[in-house]
Amino acid sequence: MTLNIRAGARTDVGRRRSGNEDAYLADETQHLYAVADGMGGHQGGEVASSMALQTVQSKVTDGTSLDSAVVQANEAVLIEANDNPELVGMGCTLTAVTFPDQRTARFAHVGDSRAYLLRDGELTQITEDHSVVGELVRGGRLTPEQAEIHPHRSMLTRAVGIEEPLHVDSYDVDMLDGDRIMLCSDGLTTMVPNDAIKRTLRKQHDPERAAVALVDMANKAGGIDNITVIVLDVGNPGDRSVNLAASAAEPGDGEPTGHWEPGDGPAAQTETGETSETDKQGEQVPARDDHIPSPLKEARQRSGRRRVTRIAMYAIPAFAVIGLGFAALGWYARSTYFVGIENGQVVLSQGVPDGFLGWDPTVELRSDLNASELTQAQRSDLRDGHRFGDRASAAQFLKRLERSATERAAAELATTTTTTTTLPVAPPPAALPPVPAPQPA
Ligand code: MN
Repeated sequence: MTLNIRAGARTDVGRRRSGNEDAYLADETQHLYAVADGMGGHQGGEVASSMALQTVQSKVTDGTSLDSAVVQANEAVLIEANDNPELVGMGCTLTAVTFPDQRTARFAHVGDSRAYLLRDGELTQITEDHSVVGELVRGGRLTPEQAEIHPHRSMLTRAVGIEEPLHVDSYDVDMLDGDRIMLCSDGLTTMVPNDAIKRTLRKQHDPERAAVALVDMANKAGGIDNITVIVLDVGNPGDRSVNLAASAAEPGDGEPTGHWEPGDGPAAQTETGETSETDKQGEQVPARDDHIPSPLKEARQRSGRRRVTRIAMYAIPAFAVIGLGFAALGWYARSTYFVGIENGQVVLSQGVPDGFLGWDPTVELRSDLNASELTQAQRSDLRDGHRFGDRASAAQFLKRLERSATERAAAELATTTTTTTTLPVAPPPAALPPVPAPQPA
């Protein structure tokens, strides 16, 4: 018997964003399904989520285990960010499932997208959120209700593409006929309460319609974030005998069978019965290169934004080269980098602080990190510019500054929302009764 899975998937830009940094993968050949939610300025979020899914798909297709494929996706995104200054800081969540045999669903997970299991009408969250509030909830310091409305609820503690090594949570769940799995980005779960999600998953027997209905609900609730939902029906529930290929996205275009959509993606959907109230139908999809801040990430970061945006390319001074010695000095002045503060903002510049023989430094990266978010020591370190011999070192230094500011924000959050003073350490993924059991890494 072949594994019988029917899939429905939908990603939607939502109502507030101009671009969709979510993406999904629905590869019916590999029985591999995944959701990724990107972050990062410029095109970073879209690049990270697409690249992570592409990497996972190709590695799994090559026979790599799902966990290792996610680790390799992390490497791929990190390398890409290192090679492209405007992509520094990009990353994504990634929640994936595959079916290594007829009975087992294997999940791999990083970030705050989620996997759920609907069994016998009950909805169980399989994954744990790798977010600051998720850890506070697990530590008993916040209630789930408090977490839902917490202003920092999207600040992540783990993501693909941010650092190495990456720890990937892994779960194996024994499947029963009639089980339904749902993968989604936080654009669904921050807008729609769990009870409403459960009712819809119970009611909508067609997986495609269920995915569409959930996206509609998130949009009706405000649609403040991109929304992505995959619904998978597993096993052989008798009358649910629709061919997987009919409901999975876009088969038969000669591409690898997987499919991700960096943009708003209703095009591949054939079921529209549930979308009559969807305002998005027929709306103009904004151009992908619109550069509008992505709010998912806003919450991911303390002050709402921590994007890195390249604002200026350096230009070789046209006037300057008089003699070889002078040229060499100019080369020196242009080949060094420093991180400093300009107008209260932390910036990465090329050149020498205060200029050198007519070469003024050029701002290359303007982070969203404010000087006020630094420690006293960091501020004085940057006052006259912290210098580096190459750009990559300077960019890494800037990244560390951003990370330390985020960590301080998290620690502060822990102390202000609780009576104790330490940020709880994330517990290892615990078995979720009744089904999931952690798989040894
Ligand atoms: Mn999101």
